[in-house]
Amino acid sequence: MKQRYYFDWAATAPPAGLSPPVPFGNPSSPHTEGRLARRALEDARSRCAAALGVGAETLYFTSGATEANTIVLHSLLARKDPPGTLLYSATEHPSVRENALALKRLGIPARQIQAEKDGRISGERFSSALGRAERPALAAVMAVNNETGSASDIPALASLARKFPGPPPRFHCDIVQAVGKVPVALGEWGVDSASLSAHKLGGPRGIGLLYLRQPAGALGAGGSQEKGIRPGTENVAGAAALAEILEARAGIGIVRAEYAAAAARFGFLIRSLRELDRCALIPEDRQDEDTRFSPYILQAAFSGIPGQAAVRALDDEGFAVSTGSACSSHRESRPVLDAMGVDRETALYGIRISQGWTTTDDDIEALIRAVRKMLAKL
Ligand code: PLP
Repeated sequence: MKQRYYFDWAATAPPAGLSPPVPFGNPSSPHTEGRLARRALEDARSRCAAALGVGAETLYFTSGATEANTIVLHSLLARKDPPGTLLYSATEHPSVRENALALKRLGIPARQIQAEKDGRISGERFSSALGRAERPALAAVMAVNNETGSASDIPALASLARKFPGPPPRFHCDIVQAVGKVPVALGEWGVDSASLSAHKLGGPRGIGLLYLRQPAGALGAGGSQEKGIRPGTENVAGAAALAEILEARAGIGIVRAEYAAAAARFGFLIRSLRELDRCALIPEDRQDEDTRFSPYILQAAFSGIPGQAAVRALDDEGFAVSTGSACSSHRESRPVLDAMGVDRETALYGIRISQGWTTTDDDIEALIRAVRKMLAKL
């Protein structure tokens, strides 16, 4: 097989090979095997909490970020009082956006918060959405967008939510593409809830975390695991692997060091892409090392080559890239790019290039060569 170059880290990261052995018992069983598994689970929770700088009692293991986001949004259905408005940014991952639409069909008022042209949610747009909503109950704004890398100022937005005159809405933040990549201070950001996923960091699929600053009502039923917030037998092996990966990747020292290296690599990529006639960065004014974006995710369009065709052409050359989120890869529409005001044609040509900590300068140079070759051919 041809040498492969992996540029789809935002979909999933190559496994880091960290799978510590864990006791096999069911953590809810009262016997010794069960108690050993319970101890391993709680040990994993404490280690995740220490790595994220929050209390262990605020963390709930889930099957991933989709489930964590779903639990938070669906908690609106568990409220006894009439539901207030759900606000969600127009660029959210489908696990927020499509759940918001599902809730709307069930009668929960749900409104989008408009994004700026760079895909970020500004304080002005956030305040205006809060001001227009009837009794805002929950506001969801992601830290880093999975298609463009746009990074909103979460502490500033969470602070605006807290200062809302009237009962403040809860503030939820999807930190999937932020944790381990850009500095995250969960305990200090002032968010009420957050979601993350192990497999974006090189951990296994099927394990993630929900952070709840205060216990919140949840819709789940069927078991008292994870305090009833996430019923179902716990994934102890996954929890232990997540603890391991967060300890390895989420520390502020490593995040800062890797960030600088990633920014330099993508800075070079951006400069090189700019030199190509048929290439447009999305958004167009993205700079080489631009702090409005995560340096791990880039969206670019190649005029005349539909995104799906570019993905196939680069795949043939040995390069894994994608269009949008892996969950929506079979759909033509690009709601995130639409929300940024990107014209339909450019959006159709868009591809996502995402890198990680094993990406090298040579990989970037090889990618640029492959893009040139594709442009010459198509
Ligand atoms: N949120 C964002 C921003 C993502 O990129 C993803 C994965 O694509 C998810 C949520 C869903 O995560 P999981 O695969 O753990 O359900």
